[in-house]
Amino acid sequence: MKIAIIGAGISGLTAAMHLNDVADITLFEKSRGAGGRICSRYTDAYSFDHGAQFFTARTPQFKKFLEPLIESGVIANWNARFIEFRKSIIMNRRVWGEEHPHYIGTPTMSSIGQYLAKDLNINLNTEVSIKKCNQGWNILDSKDRDLGKYDWVISTIPAEQSLQLLPEYFSHTKAIEQKKMLGCYSLMLGFEQALNIDWDAALISEADISWISVNSSKSGRPKNYSLLVHSTNDWAENHLDDASEAVIKHLCSEVQMITGQDVSMAQHIDLHRWRYANISRQAKSKPFIDNAIKIAACGDWCAKGRIEAAFRSGFDLAKEMRMLLK
Ligand SMILES: Cc1cc2nc3c(=O)[nH]c(=O)nc-3n(C[C@H](O)[C@H](O)[C@H](O)COP(=O)(O)OP(=O)(O)OC[C@H]3O[C@@H](n4cnc5c(N)ncnc54)[C@H](O)[C@@H]3O)c2cc1C
Repeated sequence: MKIAIIGAGISGLTAAMHLNDVADITLFEKSRGAGGRICSRYTDAYSFDHGAQFFTARTPQFKKFLEPLIESGVIANWNARFIEFRKSIIMNRRVWGEEHPHYIGTPTMSSIGQYLAKDLNINLNTEVSIKKCNQGWNILDSKDRDLGKYDWVISTIPAEQSLQLLPEYFSHTKAIEQKKMLGCYSLMLGFEQALNIDWDAALISEADISWISVNSSKSGRPKNYSLLVHSTNDWAENHLDDASEAVIKHLCSEVQMITGQDVSMAQHIDLHRWRYANISRQAKSKPFIDNAIKIAACGDWCAKGRIEAAFRSGFDLAKEMRMLLK
């Protein structure tokens, strides 16, 4: 049984790891590394986790899955000094502790995908589409070159992209059409000198930014002071086509409104636009499996925009597929 898994984010990697012993699994990933939205960007002086910031583990299955990553030092606790703002008003402060760990990848969030992919058969830099063939599916690259025939295809890419990739007659198309994903901007700022703020992570409401973290406060990162800022999904959706300069200017002014610091003079400024960052409405769906045409789909969008939800979708899908493949 040959299975192609499209997308090497946490859901695709989880599905691959839990099916690897019952089928011949090949992952196809369009980026140059595994991990998807759990990712990092580097310069000589700075590193930035511009996707997921940290994660928690609630279910026994996810806690067990994380054990080898903790043992090998791929993830660690982030005991951040956490603060909540409503506009610029401080609402709450606390220090995250060991009793309810907030995990980060070390030395970067990308380390997680690299670690999980190490024993898997994965094709990086390979954006694919699919085409029906006799008794199976052909995987095609972006130049329509044939990358092989597979019995099953599992799509683990964001909902809208899955709809474009999969055939209309996939029996779960209507359900996936209900899954709307929203955009987000990540602003990356690097400084020569530390800013005068006394927290490491801030959750913000009633502003156009929802999050600021001192990326350099996470263990394993370069010491050079760096901030990572996320816009709200709503603001990003309304400004997806704006020029980068205008977006940077607005987000910097929002940071100034919250922190009182002028960050527009940062030595390093970079922006990333996420078209599909987060599901608009949380809703728990089962993994989408169509045994008649041998297509399946999962991803964080089956439940909510969290690493544990993405893990769960890949884990549940693999569990159901193992029963089908028996
Ligand atoms: C800005 C931001 C902040 C976040 N913060 C947090 C947080 O603090 N805590 C938390 O728990 N979660 C957070 N999340 C959510 C978390 O990152 C996601 O829930 C999770 O990583 C999704 O994993 P996934 O496998 O479902 O999808 P993805 O990670 O999106 O994986 C899909 C993969 O498919 C690939 N792909 C797409 N199309 C193709 C194609 N045609 N061919 C080949 N490959 C393709 C993509 O390159 C990608 O690697 C955040 C997300 C964003 C964007």
